[in-house]
Amino acid sequence: MGLVLRAHRPGLVRYPERRLCGRRLLHRRLRHARRSARTGGRSRPQGSSQIDKPARLLLLFLDGVGIGEDHADINPFARARSSLPTFLQLMGGSLPTLGNAHTSGPRGRVIPLDATLDMDGLPQSGTGQTALLTGEDAADLHGRHFGPWVPVALRPLVEQHSVLQRALDAGRSAAFANAYPRSWPGSSRRSRFIAALPLAAKAAGLLDRHEEALGEGRAVSSEIVNDGWRTHLGHDWLPEISPQEAGANLAAISGDHDLTLYAHYATDDAGHSQSMDDAVAALQRVDAFLEGLLEQMASDTLLLVTSDHGNIEDVRAGHTRNPALGIASGPGEEHAQEMSDLRHVTPFVLRALGIE
Ligand SMILES: [Zn+2]
Repeated sequence: MGLVLRAHRPGLVRYPERRLCGRRLLHRRLRHARRSARTGGRSRPQGSSQIDKPARLLLLFLDGVGIGEDHADINPFARARSSLPTFLQLMGGSLPTLGNAHTSGPRGRVIPLDATLDMDGLPQSGTGQTALLTGEDAADLHGRHFGPWVPVALRPLVEQHSVLQRALDAGRSAAFANAYPRSWPGSSRRSRFIAALPLAAKAAGLLDRHEEALGEGRAVSSEIVNDGWRTHLGHDWLPEISPQEAGANLAAISGDHDLTLYAHYATDDAGHSQSMDDAVAALQRVDAFLEGLLEQMASDTLLLVTSDHGNIEDVRAGHTRNPALGIASGPGEEHAQEMSDLRHVTPFVLRALGIE
């Protein structure tokens, strides 16, 4: 299963993986990654061509959003489509479904991303986000899907080989737009539970936006609005902001950097709640955020929305094996169609920025 070559990038060195234990395999992967970073050495996906270069790229991560059935009883996109105008615009004007996943229109196109990583079982955030951020086959390296945190043995891969670090290594500017408490991740037992995106940002020196930045609109809360920071983290002085205002703040941050990463997790939480009302509310919040973002985002920015696995698109259960939702909007978006798998995202981002 893990040795199936389908969907792997041509040119990626294939190791006799099953004969290596996990630690040795990881070390080989890291060595190869470092060598590849030095030589700029990756081949392009088959059929790829020169990308119309966007001036910058905004990678907007939504946890647990897949492409589901066109069924209003189970899919909140189908239930609430009339109240998700910005999503619909970005997705080409119609709802992508399992039967018709590649929707496109003047403002964007849907890129369905296989999240199964050629592995049985339900995709999980730890391995899925690691694959997204590094281009490597995290489930195969770990031996199974794992989440929601990054497996400890895969942390060096995320820390040393993330798309953020590789953009910086190539001399580009990069930002992680999320606000985090200064104390994160701390030293308590809970601090061992680390998600891939802040882990990559911290290792790249980009976990540098805290409550002051949030108060000044130079950061965005992971939940989009500031309510949690105000009520749970003791910063009641922070302004209450609308999702649209948060989107405008993200647009301003992305305007200052070649690559900006932002992560939102509440969509996965809403999927786990198995409540249609919660799922619809979570998508409506993201829709309003996208509305504010698009109003202010520079037209030479390529917006790439990606998820790590399905969940919210089917409120009957938790994670699904449905394709993860990808959306591309902006200069070079047509080349995003070369992606069909979580592992293709990082190579695509680097090529779009002219790095590899
Ligand atoms: Zn989940």
